[in-house]
Amino acid sequence: MKTKTEKSVTIKDVSSKKTVNEIKIKLPSLSVNEGVARAVCAAFCAQLDPTSTEIADVKCAVSEAVTNCIVHAYKDTVGIIYITVRLCEGRIARIDIRDRGCGIEDVTLARQPLFTTDAENERSGMGFTVMESFCDRVKVTSKSGVGTTVTLIKQFAGK
Ligand code: ATP
Ligand code: MG
Repeated sequence: MKTKTEKSVTIKDVSSKKTVNEIKIKLPSLSVNEGVARAVCAAFCAQLDPTSTEIADVKCAVSEAVTNCIVHAYKDTVGIIYITVRLCEGRIARIDIRDRGCGIEDVTLARQPLFTTDAENERSGMGFTVMESFCDRVKVTSKSGVGTTVTLIKQFAGK
Protein backbone atom coordinates (compact mmCIF):
# COMPACT_ATOMS: atom_id res chain seq x y z
CA MET A 1 0.00 0.00 0.00
CA LYS A 2 1.28 3.48 -0.90
CA THR A 3 1.78 5.89 1.96
CA LYS A 4 0.91 9.58 1.67
CA THR A 5 4.51 10.59 0.97
CA GLU A 6 4.84 7.97 -1.79
CA LYS A 7 1.84 9.25 -3.71
CA SER A 8 3.23 10.35 -7.03
CA VAL A 9 0.31 11.17 -9.29
CA THR A 10 -0.99 14.73 -9.01
CA ILE A 11 -4.15 16.30 -10.40
CA LYS A 12 -1.94 18.36 -12.74
CA ASP A 13 -0.21 15.19 -14.00
CA VAL A 14 -3.58 13.63 -14.74
CA SER A 15 -4.77 16.69 -16.67
CA SER A 16 -1.85 16.26 -19.06
CA LYS A 17 -2.51 12.54 -19.64
CA LYS A 18 -4.44 11.27 -22.64
CA THR A 19 -7.94 9.98 -21.88
CA VAL A 20 -8.34 6.47 -23.28
CA ASN A 21 -11.97 5.88 -22.35
CA GLU A 22 -14.72 7.89 -20.70
CA ILE A 23 -18.26 7.49 -19.37
CA LYS A 24 -20.70 10.16 -18.19
CA ILE A 25 -23.77 9.43 -16.11
CA LYS A 26 -26.50 11.59 -14.62
CA LEU A 27 -28.54 10.34 -11.71
CA PRO A 28 -31.22 11.83 -9.48
CA SER A 29 -30.07 12.07 -5.86
CA LEU A 30 -32.13 9.14 -4.61
CA SER A 31 -30.47 6.95 -2.00
CA VAL A 32 -30.93 3.87 -4.22
CA ASN A 33 -28.59 5.52 -6.75
CA GLU A 34 -25.62 5.48 -4.36
CA GLY A 35 -25.24 1.75 -5.10
CA VAL A 36 -25.85 2.29 -8.80
CA ALA A 37 -23.13 4.97 -9.03
CA ARG A 38 -20.68 2.82 -7.07
CA ALA A 39 -21.32 -0.22 -9.29
CA VAL A 40 -21.09 1.72 -12.58
CA CYS A 41 -17.81 3.42 -11.61
CA ALA A 42 -16.29 0.13 -10.46
CA ALA A 43 -17.46 -1.74 -13.57
CA PHE A 44 -15.99 0.94 -15.85
CA CYS A 45 -12.64 0.90 -14.00
CA ALA A 46 -12.55 -2.91 -14.21
CA GLN A 47 -11.27 -2.74 -17.82
CA LEU A 48 -7.89 -1.63 -16.38
CA ASP A 49 -7.80 -4.97 -14.56
CA PRO A 50 -7.31 -3.58 -11.05
CA THR A 51 -6.95 -5.77 -7.98
CA SER A 52 -10.05 -6.53 -5.93
CA THR A 53 -8.70 -4.22 -3.21
CA GLU A 54 -8.32 -1.37 -5.71
CA ILE A 55 -11.91 -1.89 -6.92
CA ALA A 56 -13.13 -1.91 -3.33
CA ASP A 57 -11.25 1.37 -2.76
CA VAL A 58 -12.97 2.98 -5.77
CA LYS A 59 -16.39 1.77 -4.61
CA CYS A 60 -15.87 3.10 -1.13
CA ALA A 61 -14.67 6.55 -2.25
CA VAL A 62 -17.46 6.94 -4.83
CA SER A 63 -20.00 5.86 -2.25
CA GLU A 64 -18.86 8.58 0.19
CA ALA A 65 -18.88 11.32 -2.46
CA VAL A 66 -22.30 10.36 -3.87
CA THR A 67 -23.80 9.99 -0.40
CA ASN A 68 -22.65 13.55 0.34
CA CYS A 69 -24.54 14.78 -2.74
CA ILE A 70 -27.67 12.97 -1.56
CA VAL A 71 -27.61 13.94 2.12
CA HIS A 72 -25.90 17.35 2.07
CA ALA A 73 -25.98 18.97 -1.38
CA TYR A 74 -29.62 18.11 -2.05
CA LYS A 75 -30.82 17.86 1.55
CA ASP A 76 -34.67 17.92 1.57
CA THR A 77 -34.81 17.91 -2.22
CA VAL A 78 -33.85 15.80 -5.21
CA GLY A 79 -31.29 17.11 -7.68
CA ILE A 80 -29.05 15.71 -10.36
CA ILE A 81 -25.64 14.15 -9.65
CA TYR A 82 -23.25 14.28 -12.63
CA ILE A 83 -20.50 11.68 -12.71
CA THR A 84 -17.67 11.41 -15.25
CA VAL A 85 -15.18 8.57 -15.15
CA ARG A 86 -12.07 9.02 -17.30
CA LEU A 87 -9.48 6.32 -17.72
CA CYS A 88 -6.17 7.92 -18.58
CA GLU A 89 -2.78 6.71 -19.77
CA GLY A 90 -0.72 5.31 -16.89
CA ARG A 91 -3.56 3.16 -15.44
CA ILE A 92 -5.18 6.21 -13.85
CA ALA A 93 -8.88 6.65 -13.15
CA ARG A 94 -10.20 10.18 -12.68
CA ILE A 95 -13.74 10.32 -11.29
CA ASP A 96 -15.55 13.68 -11.12
CA ILE A 97 -18.72 13.79 -8.99
CA ARG A 98 -20.59 17.07 -9.34
CA ASP A 99 -23.77 18.49 -7.86
CA ARG A 100 -25.63 21.76 -8.15
CA GLY A 101 -26.64 21.74 -4.53
CA CYS A 102 -26.06 24.00 -1.54
CA GLY A 103 -22.26 24.08 -1.83
CA ILE A 104 -19.68 24.07 0.98
CA GLU A 105 -18.86 27.31 2.79
CA ASP A 106 -15.38 26.31 3.96
CA VAL A 107 -13.86 23.37 2.11
CA THR A 108 -10.73 23.21 4.29
CA LEU A 109 -12.88 22.88 7.39
CA ALA A 110 -15.24 20.37 5.75
CA ARG A 111 -12.26 18.14 4.93
CA GLN A 112 -11.09 17.95 8.55
CA PRO A 113 -11.62 14.51 10.12
CA LEU A 114 -14.74 14.43 12.32
CA PHE A 115 -16.14 17.71 10.95
CA THR A 116 -19.83 17.40 10.15
CA THR A 117 -22.76 19.76 9.80
CA ASP A 118 -25.15 16.87 10.38
CA ALA A 119 -24.31 15.45 13.81
CA GLU A 120 -28.03 15.17 14.62
CA ASN A 121 -28.31 12.36 12.06
CA GLU A 122 -25.30 10.63 13.63
CA ARG A 123 -22.93 11.43 10.77
CA SER A 124 -19.33 11.01 11.80
CA GLY A 125 -17.65 13.58 9.57
CA MET A 126 -15.31 11.00 8.09
CA GLY A 127 -16.43 10.92 4.45
CA PHE A 128 -13.62 13.08 3.02
CA THR A 129 -11.06 11.31 5.20
CA VAL A 130 -12.22 7.96 3.80
CA MET A 131 -12.00 9.30 0.21
CA GLU A 132 -8.45 10.54 0.89
CA SER A 133 -7.34 7.25 2.35
CA PHE A 134 -8.69 5.18 -0.56
CA CYS A 135 -7.56 7.43 -3.42
CA ASP A 136 -4.24 8.94 -4.50
CA ARG A 137 -5.69 12.45 -4.68
CA VAL A 138 -8.96 14.14 -3.77
CA LYS A 139 -9.79 17.63 -5.03
CA VAL A 140 -12.84 19.52 -3.83
CA THR A 141 -14.10 22.72 -5.44
CA SER A 142 -17.27 24.30 -4.16
CA LYS A 143 -19.25 27.52 -4.09
CA SER A 144 -22.04 28.26 -1.66
CA GLY A 145 -25.40 28.12 -3.38
CA VAL A 146 -23.87 26.87 -6.64
CA GLY A 147 -22.58 23.35 -5.98
CA THR A 148 -19.62 21.10 -5.45
CA THR A 149 -17.27 19.00 -7.54
CA VAL A 150 -15.23 16.21 -5.97
CA THR A 151 -12.43 14.75 -8.11
CA LEU A 152 -11.07 11.37 -7.11
CA ILE A 153 -7.81 10.15 -8.63
CA LYS A 154 -6.83 6.51 -8.36
CA GLN A 155 -3.75 5.03 -10.01
CA PHE A 156 -3.86 1.26 -10.31
CA ALA A 157 -0.69 -0.73 -9.67
CA GLY A 158 1.42 -1.62 -12.70
CA LYS A 159 0.93 -4.92 -14.48
P1 ATP B 1 -20.02 10.94 7.15
O1 ATP B 1 -19.53 11.04 5.72
O2 ATP B 1 -18.99 10.37 8.07
O3 ATP B 1 -21.35 10.26 7.25
P2 ATP B 1 -20.27 13.78 6.80
O4 ATP B 1 -20.94 13.53 5.49
O5 ATP B 1 -20.81 14.90 7.62
O6 ATP B 1 -20.27 12.44 7.68
P3 ATP B 1 -17.91 14.31 5.24
O7 ATP B 1 -18.38 13.41 4.15
O8 ATP B 1 -16.46 14.31 5.59
O9 ATP B 1 -18.70 14.02 6.60
O10 ATP B 1 -18.34 15.81 4.86
C1 ATP B 1 -18.04 16.86 5.78
C2 ATP B 1 -19.03 17.99 5.63
O11 ATP B 1 -18.85 18.60 4.34
C3 ATP B 1 -20.49 17.59 5.65
O12 ATP B 1 -20.99 17.49 6.98
C4 ATP B 1 -21.15 18.71 4.86
O13 ATP B 1 -21.34 19.86 5.67
C5 ATP B 1 -20.10 19.06 3.84
N1 ATP B 1 -20.32 18.45 2.51
C6 ATP B 1 -19.69 17.37 2.00
N2 ATP B 1 -20.05 17.12 0.75
C7 ATP B 1 -20.96 18.08 0.42
C8 ATP B 1 -21.70 18.40 -0.78
N3 ATP B 1 -21.59 17.66 -1.90
N4 ATP B 1 -22.53 19.47 -0.73
C9 ATP B 1 -22.64 20.22 0.39
N5 ATP B 1 -21.96 19.98 1.54
C10 ATP B 1 -21.13 18.92 1.56
MG1 MG C 1 -20.18 12.20 4.11
